[in-house]
Amino acid sequence: MNDTIFGKILRREIPADIVYEDDDLIAFKDISPQAPVHVLFVPKAPIATLNDLQPNQAELLGKLFLAAAAYAKRQGFADNGYRCVINCNSHAGQTVFQLHLHLLAGAPLRSGFG
Ligand code: 5GP
Repeated sequence: MNDTIFGKILRREIPADIVYEDDDLIAFKDISPQAPVHVLFVPKAPIATLNDLQPNQAELLGKLFLAAAAYAKRQGFADNGYRCVINCNSHAGQTVFQLHLHLLAGAPLRSGFG
């Protein structure tokens, strides 16, 4: 993973509430939750933005979504529903330049894209 705050979490240099980890990815609770459940799923390979994802990394993106869905099922909110979001670059508000998927859940979420 590149030298972002998420790299420091992966290397246990700073604390985080880690909820899942395997060979390819790590997931931890967002420090500033935007919903009752807000977990970040982060690939360990250094990928700054979605623009940087390579065709040979397509499976990795699938694993990210599958890990999020498995977490939702384990935690019991899969049927009620949840949202998965990937922000890319400034117009989307990306602030940490290591690819990550936001999992938001736990209450009805605002609709819209603003
Ligand atoms: P982005 O805006 O790049 O899509 O999302 C970055 C997310 O990382 C934000 O939701 C922010 O709250 C979260 N974040 C930033 N720094 C930390 C940190 O040190 N620990 C944790 N757990 N989350 C962080």
